[in-house]
Order: sequence, then structure tokens, then C-alpha cells
Amino acid sequence: MQKRICPGCGKAWYSADCMRPWVCDICGAIIPVPEEDAGEPSAEVEDDDGNS
Ligand SMILES: [Zn+2]
Repeated sequence: MQKRICPGCGKAWYSADCMRPWVCDICGAIIPVPEEDAGEPSAEVEDDDGNS
């Protein structure tokens, strides 16, 4: 179980899904995966999100 704080509204969320970003149920903000829990130091790829 992982705890994350919503960057939008500050609500604390808990989920067992620690691999993917979450979506805040209150404000709809994306709650990203915390860097210290990402666990892959070689994966420094910044996705520019240009392919939509
Ligand atoms: Zn929120």
C-alpha cells in the first residue's frame, strides 16, 4: 500500500498500485509516481506527450 498526496487539493490517497499515476477523485489532478518509489534509476526518459 502506498500513500500519495494530491498536488492539486492536498488530499492523501492510498493504493496498492504503486507503478502508475493516479487520478484524484476530488479535483481530477494527476498524482504522479513518487521518484523514490520508481525504482529504476536508468529510466530517465521524459515523455513529451506529443503523440496524441
Ligand atoms: Zn486532488
